[in-house]
Amino acid sequence: MDLGLRGKVAVITGGTVGIGLAVAEGLAAEGANLVLVGRDGGRAEREAVRVAEAHGVTAIGVAADVATAAGCEAVVDATKRQFGGTDILINNAGTGSNETIQEADDAKWQYYWDLHVMAAVRLGRGLVPTMRERGGGVVLHNASICAVQPLWYEPIYNTTKAALMMFSKTMANEVVGDNIRVNTVNPGLVEPPDWIKTAKQIAGEDGYRAHLRGVAEEVGGMKRFASPQEMANFFVFLCSDRASYSTGSTYFVDGGWLKTV
Ligand code: NDP
Repeated sequence: MDLGLRGKVAVITGGTVGIGLAVAEGLAAEGANLVLVGRDGGRAEREAVRVAEAHGVTAIGVAADVATAAGCEAVVDATKRQFGGTDILINNAGTGSNETIQEADDAKWQYYWDLHVMAAVRLGRGLVPTMRERGGGVVLHNASICAVQPLWYEPIYNTTKAALMMFSKTMANEVVGDNIRVNTVNPGLVEPPDWIKTAKQIAGEDGYRAHLRGVAEEVGGMKRFASPQEMANFFVFLCSDRASYSTGSTYFVDGGWLKTV
């Protein structure tokens, strides 16, 4: 099936590893050009070169911290410089947290708000006008099942991802007349590395593997982690014209973990 993505430009925050990199590979396989964003500029550059060579597309790596206004500006500037703008924006950069409400200070709340919400606000503000100029576009937000079904140890993650979901819905309403579709994907368990980081914090170096096995058992449904590629397939479809009637929605891709309808 031709997804009609050849020659499109996609900006992917956190596109240098994990789900974001799998989405990048999926889009490149369809002929899309890429802007891969991460704080580690070396890795961003390496992955951009590798994916571009593998799929015959143009890709650049951008070193930027999207939890800051300056970082978001750098992404917008680099995208305009290289491609004149973008057709697709995937706000994927994010990470789990581990705290109690009682103990976490304001700075920690602020950091996750900036990373999970303000990055989407700032990049939307910077890049949506370029989509308008190109006649339309797609914005996807990678939130989490935790946006509606919280995990006990990460109240800040749960809260900021819920806010991202609402931001996505609201933005969809604002740009629906511009032929720009905006949706959220809520993944369930997707293979480490981010999970390993959190699991080590909870169960330590010796206990984290058993902890991860336990997590998969406990969530029920398919009782396993998804591969990043399984997640990416869904993102790529939503980026394509095959999803042309889809906007303002949230899609759960969670192997049956969600306990409500
Ligand atoms: P990874 O930890 O594997 O990758 C995170 C990516 O985001 C990296 O490319 C990282 O690059 C980048 N990143 C992190 N912080 C920043 C920042 N401040 N500025 C720019 N880039 C940043 O994560 P996953 O693939 O596991 O997760 C991706 C998204 O999916 C996240 O938003 C996560 O919350 C969500 N998600 C993940 C699930 C899972 O089970 N893995 C489940 C549900 C949702 P660098 O370190 O170089 O900055």
